Amino acid sequence: MPAHFAPSQPLQGGPSPSQLGPKELLIERALTRLRSIPNDLEKYTFLAGLRGRNPDVFYGLVGGNMKECCPIIYTPVIGLACQNWSLIHPPPPESDPTIDALYLSYSDLPNLPQLIGGLKTRLPHDQMQISVVTDGSRVLGLGDLGVGGMGISQGKLSLYVAAGGVNPKATLPIAIDFGTDNETLLADPLYVGQRIRRLSQEKCLEFMEVFMRCMHETFPNMVIQHEDWQTPLAFPLLHKNRDLYPCFNDDIQGTGAVVLAGAIRAFHLNGVALKDQKILFFGAGSSGVGVAETICKYFELQGMSEDEAKSKFWLVDSKGLVAHNRGDTLPSHKKYLARSEPDAPKLRTLKEVVEHVQPTALLGLSTVGGTFTKEILEAMATYNKRPIVFALSNPVAQAECTFEEAVEGTDGRVLYASGSPFDPVEYKGKRYEPGQGNNMYIFPGLGIGAILARVSKIPEELVHASAQGLADSLTPEETARHLLYPDIERIREVSIKIAVTVIQAAQKLGVDRNEELRGKSSAEIEAYVRKGMYHPLLEAEQQAQ
Ligand code: NAD
Repeated sequence: MPAHFAPSQPLQGGPSPSQLGPKELLIERALTRLRSIPNDLEKYTFLAGLRGRNPDVFYGLVGGNMKECCPIIYTPVIGLACQNWSLIHPPPPESDPTIDALYLSYSDLPNLPQLIGGLKTRLPHDQMQISVVTDGSRVLGLGDLGVGGMGISQGKLSLYVAAGGVNPKATLPIAIDFGTDNETLLADPLYVGQRIRRLSQEKCLEFMEVFMRCMHETFPNMVIQHEDWQTPLAFPLLHKNRDLYPCFNDDIQGTGAVVLAGAIRAFHLNGVALKDQKILFFGAGSSGVGVAETICKYFELQGMSEDEAKSKFWLVDSKGLVAHNRGDTLPSHKKYLARSEPDAPKLRTLKEVVEHVQPTALLGLSTVGGTFTKEILEAMATYNKRPIVFALSNPVAQAECTFEEAVEGTDGRVLYASGSPFDPVEYKGKRYEPGQGNNMYIFPGLGIGAILARVSKIPEELVHASAQGLADSLTPEETARHLLYPDIERIREVSIKIAVTVIQAAQKLGVDRNEELRGKSSAEIEAYVRKGMYHPLLEAEQQAQ
């Protein structure tokens, strides 16, 4: 169990209750109550209820205790919540049910313009800023959870508020019910979604075309984040919409950016020139391919030709090395980085590919826990002074190796990042700190930057700008500790830094629509970002000042 689930601690050294304002007192009570709950899922339902009842207290609590609360409202506990959604899904607040959870299904297609257009009367449509939309077809590493994906939409939006300063009233979580292929849900009479098999890709894309148009017509300034869509829908959705609307896919682009940021730092720390890096991806789904293509594009932006950049990458999937000549038909998303060397068809296991490539970096996005074995980690330590090992699959049980295994397998030399949180490790008398390459470093800053610049679309350059903003956000003290990512407790400051970088990139590309920000200096843009942020401890009238 991670250390941040430590048993309840009495408040020590803080202000006495009489010194606390009314909101702070409620926050301290809620924190004490949270710590008294022994079970993770119960902690989640307590926090979800609090969010509905009193958003200011919920966000004050989360914002002041990110390390403790994020694993509950987001990965890994959110996965458990999505799996149990039919039993626990929190009732929406009576005051505004839509804003807390909008469920749509394919049968809504003929009425979609009226349904979505009608939201204008219930939501402040000109102020709506961000929606997270899922069909729950591939939730974290847990597979198809149907409308249980709503937990992810809500969890991500909670982080937009806590980490990015978006006003909770400007967020809209959406789950689209296209059925489910999860046999357990199909057989469960208590399942809250439709107990039908998933609809065809064609029908889903037909629905999504109308959905995206209606959303944009109704909420012209809204950024739409696609989340946890299975790969065969994720890529077409991205490619169809990226030039039309301000939208992005967090699994493909958000993951790409956060891993790129960690990789920029790790390439610097392992001391190997970019042209000599050899990067091996274990897992070639939407996240693996998305990340590989993002880093590849970064190499191009650093001056390599496209072919030279591509030559630095190897992908492994369940059939072995992804190669043009391995005798099967590759899905389109795997073709771009597929290899064609003669030996490729013989390389079937990760171990064989590792020995063949001798990579400087090994990145896991396979959903299969424990696959970076001791043998593989030791091999990485043989080839490299500072091997880069990123075990990015979520939740914790799916991580390709734990931090402890990586430290031991490489005798403490590893540059490590994971998707889910791991505790620091003591090894041979020295303390080692893991990096958490979690998307939550990127999407709040990327989103708030895109919102405030009022972008017409989110080109790849903006995603790269967010990665650079994150890589540049470490303090001198964090840099001296050889960290790959900044302290998560500083997430608001990090998001501000990323937002400024994104706004400037949008202005450079001419995709910004907020004329007020044009011609402003970095400091002026930063002040504008800070001013636009929601602060749960301020009263409503103080927010806008
Ligand atoms: P996916 O199901 O689309 O892809 C999984 C890939 O792994 C496929 O290419 C599959 O062939 C391969 N694979 C599966 N089993 C394998 C095996 N035994 N040997 C070799 N290859 C195997 O999933 P995805 O959307 O790409 O997500 C992958 C993982 O990345 C998930 O666990 C997800 O939680 C994680 N992820 C992490 C972050 C983060 O914040 N770090 C962000 C997004 C996704």
